[in-house]
Order: sequence, then C-alpha cells, then structure tokens
Amino acid sequence: MKNYPCQDCGRPRLAGRKFPRLCLRCRQRRHYHPAECPGCHDVRPLAWPGPDGQVTCADCAGAPSIFACKHCGREDHPYSYRQCARYWLTEYLTGILTDPATGTINADLRPLYDLLITGRQPRATIRWLIKPGSIAPDVLQRFATGELPISHDTFRHHLPQGRRYDYIRTLLTSTGVLPPAPIGIERIVAWLGPLIADQPPHHADIINRYAHWHLLRRLRRHAERVTLTATLINNARANILLATRLADWTTSHDATLTDLSQSQLELFLTDQPVAPRTAAPFVRWLNATDTNPGLQLAIRDRTEPAISMSDDHRWNSVDRLLHDHNINHYSRVAGLFMLLFSWPLNEILRMTHDQIDEHPGGRVLVTLDTIPVELPPGLSQLAAEQKTSHGLATYTADGTNWLFPGRNPGTHMATEQVRHELVSHGIHPRQSRSAALFALASQIPAPVLADITGITPNAAIRWAALAARDWSGYIANR
Ligand SMILES: [Zn+2]
Ligand SMILES: [Zn+2]
Ligand SMILES: [Zn+2]
Repeated sequence: MKNYPCQDCGRPRLAGRKFPRLCLRCRQRRHYHPAECPGCHDVRPLAWPGPDGQVTCADCAGAPSIFACKHCGREDHPYSYRQCARYWLTEYLTGILTDPATGTINADLRPLYDLLITGRQPRATIRWLIKPGSIAPDVLQRFATGELPISHDTFRHHLPQGRRYDYIRTLLTSTGVLPPAPIGIERIVAWLGPLIADQPPHHADIINRYAHWHLLRRLRRHAERVTLTATLINNARANILLATRLADWTTSHDATLTDLSQSQLELFLTDQPVAPRTAAPFVRWLNATDTNPGLQLAIRDRTEPAISMSDDHRWNSVDRLLHDHNINHYSRVAGLFMLLFSWPLNEILRMTHDQIDEHPGGRVLVTLDTIPVELPPGLSQLAAEQKTSHGLATYTADGTNWLFPGRNPGTHMATEQVRHELVSHGIHPRQSRSAALFALASQIPAPVLADITGITPNAAIRWAALAARDWSGYIANR
C-alpha cells in the first residue's frame, strides 16, 4: 500500500489516502488544540482541508469525525486514541470503586463516583488518580472493598497524615459520604507541633498558649456553630506564623517575647515583610495576657507588603487588581482568579452565575471544577458584585447567565478583551499562568481551598496584608 505524507508535517503516515491525512502526532496536536472552524464558527478540532485552502471541522466537511470518542461520540476531552477522558475515567473508577460483594459500585461511595466522573476537567482527575505516588486508588479501593471503614476515625488513626489523605477526606465530606469535620483545625494542630519544636522552651510555651488557648479555642467555637470558614483557619495560621517570626527575631536580637521593647517591635515591623495589621492580633494578645504588657501596635498602613523574588511582580498585580478602581471590574475579578488560582482565562470567562454562590455572613464560594472553593475576603466581595455586572453587554439576553457577559447578546467575553486590559496594566496572563499564588495543585481534580492548605502560609500572610490594605496608601506611594 502506498504511504501518503501527513498533510501537516509531511512525514509518511501509514495507510489511507482519505483526508484528513494525519500522522498520529499531528492528529493528536489537532485534537488537543481545537480552534474556531471557518465554516460554522464552532470551536472544534479542525483537520479537513476545504476547497479554498482552509481547514474545517468534520461536519463542515461532511465527513465522520476522526476525533470522536468511539463510546460517546464526543470530540472534547481527548485522552487516548478514540477514547475520551470521561469514558476512560468512568471505566477506571468503576474498577476501583466496585464492591466485590455486590459487583456494583459501593453504594456509600456512589456520590464520590458521581462527583468525579462529572468534573469539568476529567483529565485532571485522571492525573490525580494515576500520577506516580498517588495514594488515591489504593485508599479508595480499600474503602470500596470494605477493608477500611469509611470514617473520619480511619483517617485520624489508621491512615498516614498529610495533604493527600486530607484531600480524599475533603472529597468525602464535600459529597456527604462523611459528615463535615473540622479537618482544618486538626491540620493546624498537627502542623503546630513541629513548628513549635523549633522554638526555645520559653517561646514554645508562649506560642503554644497563644495557639491553643486563644486561636484554636476560637476556631472550635466557630466549628460548633458551623461558622468555621477557610479564611478563619488561614488567618489563624498566619497569626501563628507571625508569632514564630517575631519570636525568631527577638531571639536573634538577644531578647525574648516577654522583654521585647516597643522600639524593638517597631524595628521588627520595618524589618519584616508583614503589614502591621497581620502582627496586631498577636501583639494585642501579648499585651492583654500580660505576657508583655509594654507592647502596643497602632495600625498604620505605612509598610508596603514586602515582596520576594519571582513572586514580586505577581503579588503587585494582585494588589492592583484588588484595589485599583481604574481597572474594569470584570478584568479585576478575572485577573484575580487567574493570578491566585492559575485558572485559564478562557475558562474563567466561560463561567456562569451559578458558579458563584453567596452564603450568609459574606461567604462566597466559587466552583470552577467540581468542588466549591471559598474565596478569601476582598475577592469574595468583588466576585459577588460581578454577578450584578452587565460586563460588555448592552442588554442581557434571555436564557444566558454568563458571569462575564460579552458585547453580543448571549455571548461571554472573549479572552482578548480581558487580556488586552490586563496587559495594559502590566499584568501578563501568560507569565501569570505558570504558577498559582494560592497553591491549588493542578494535579488534583478540583481546587480545594477550604480546610486543607489551599493557601500556603506565606500566601495567607501576604493576602491578609493586601486585603486589609488601604488603597490610598498605595496611591500616595507611587
Ligand atoms: Zn504529521
Ligand atoms: Zn465547521
Ligand atoms: Zn467518550
């Protein structure tokens, strides 16, 4: 049989004279990079040469699609040859979650199964499951077969500790398989031990008291009243870290937390990349408990949140988007989602109103994939306000509820419109996407900010400083 060259790269491909003539590599590239079809304007994988040199989708060419999944017929979420990620995931999870006693998916785990197979990013879910070192398949299988009881107790006492386990636990609570549990508090307690172990005894004692008797007690009260939020947990973490930093600083200046003077405290604040606001709760506590009654902290926004190395530019961008009213509201919200969570701009602009959920007490949850993420203060207000925004639309089309309505009725904004504005303010989406400032690991199926350490301690401190900041100070300093 004659070998025809690949229409894209010219390498000989095996068999077939019919178009599209694509080698496996070019076929895969086209499948993973859908584009707007010049014929029908749908965004689909294009491969069929048209009469005028353009390349179109299967329908416009009147041909069966070589990209269609052989099980469901869909072209989206490609995974392996002629099999979409959703199908692959369904098969894989069925294998893991089937209870051998019944031959069907373990009834208790059914909600988890439903959640995972309906996620918006099935490839990310697959990555999370099969990446090297993933503990999820093993743990889930042991639950499904009944080898491990599905309970918080199992996580507390019979499995190793760590984020990977917490993540599974969070998935189970968020789907109602397990009742809610203060995982965030348990984590702080576990994290506190080693942190304090590094301190000399006189400081360990103070920080322990501050953490246990002040911060954690307050968090537990919130947990009882079901008002515990990720923000409160992250703030507590930030407060504890600040306390250890101050302790370290005093040690290196031949002082202690109990004899630290007011002028030394002020020196510390000018030395350190923290806004006084972040330090205020600990200083107030030192004073109120008579641990160091000499200290006072008037909150003045005089310290720029200091910025380190490569994150410098991105945190500056966050600062601007949070506070600068000269930037369009929609660009601020989209830009913050992008910078903080590393979500792709095109996905952000496709969001709909039901992905932003407002709860009593100002909590705002956003769902990009499957699991709602609680937004930190500052961003939560901006995101909630975005729901009332008309974006670029002159009127709202019936039946659409885009969070970022585009200029034409019924459409959402185009990536370019927002990208242009962000770039004009010095914020570069491409660079920004390299890493999220809030460490939402891309290898997990859904960004979970709540409870587990979605915000790294350093990011939490910095965010707290920026969110509380008075923007007039920024203007004055420019
Ligand atoms: Zn090729
Ligand atoms: Zn087409
Ligand atoms: Zn399929």
